[in-house]
Amino acid sequence: MVRNGSASNSRLGKYLLVLSVITRASVLLMLCTLAFWTTYANLKLGYNHPRLVELSSGKATRIAYEWSEAFLSLFGEPEEVVRTMGGMTWSIRLFGVPFTDPIAALSLLAKDHSWTPAIAFGLIVPLGLALLFGRVFCGYICPASLGFYVISRIRRLLERFFYFPDLEVPRAVSWGVLAGGLVAAVWTGHGVWVFVLPYFAMGQTIFQSIAFGTLSAAAGSLVVMALLDLLLGKQFTCRWLCPTGRLLGAIGRKPVITVRRDAPNCKEGCTSCAVVCPLHVDPRNDETRDCSVCGECITICPTQCLSIGMKKR
Ligand code: SF4
Ligand code: SF4
Ligand code: SF4
Repeated sequence: MVRNGSASNSRLGKYLLVLSVITRASVLLMLCTLAFWTTYANLKLGYNHPRLVELSSGKATRIAYEWSEAFLSLFGEPEEVVRTMGGMTWSIRLFGVPFTDPIAALSLLAKDHSWTPAIAFGLIVPLGLALLFGRVFCGYICPASLGFYVISRIRRLLERFFYFPDLEVPRAVSWGVLAGGLVAAVWTGHGVWVFVLPYFAMGQTIFQSIAFGTLSAAAGSLVVMALLDLLLGKQFTCRWLCPTGRLLGAIGRKPVITVRRDAPNCKEGCTSCAVVCPLHVDPRNDETRDCSVCGECITICPTQCLSIGMKKR
């Protein structure tokens, strides 16, 4: 039986799904913009005029230059404002505020045995979000997850015609990837993460193609991850390999806000929510660890007994 208020639950799930696509697309756009602003800073220094920029680099660059100039001017002198922005998915500064990838912080600790105050300060938002909402980074921020989302849709389409396995591996594998990455970083340098972390590989690929016009070797690891997702299992990389997802899931294993189930209205024998979940969470058992609050299970629940709220303690 469908409860009262079911329509609003279903709407909430759909809103969350749309929101998650919009926010991740916005992060992708932001990465492209940050990459271009490296070029912008050089063009500003070298030419300081749109017409000269067009003559040196073409019309498209001139338009991007003018847009950047207009946007940055909203916040002060463009040359000064652009200096407060920078970095990629590893560590980003926006208007001077730093945001640090927790894996970057671990890697710095393992290899260099030190953090700057900016690195420590930059951890506040990512860790705070994980403590409050679990793996919300995966659902709403990670630019790579948008690519994996698209691949999972392609896989679902192809499943109508071909057989694809859906492999599960122990959670320990992603912890092993984290440990292996840290050891490799100590030996070879932090650059190794470009080939391990999907969003780092994507950030590096975007940066290199926009700022330098060349293809990064990290694009190769993105292709490998995409193939794993397509051929081995739904969202294989995010579910079983990515150490960031596993780490954030562990930090936010008891989130404040998450998916809630109204148990009396849960349909016996139904598995819809567990099947649809991209991160292998099982809301049937009130499991919330690894949940990214993406809303997919809420939209599909036949009795609409799932919603978002404070975690039951
Ligand atoms: S598991 Fe990793 S790649 Fe997947 S969404 Fe989360 S951070 Fe991004
Ligand atoms: S349980 Fe799965 S499908 Fe439901 S909101 Fe969490 S991550 Fe999304
Ligand atoms: S989708 Fe999940 S929560 Fe909803 S009725 Fe089925 S098992 Fe219960």
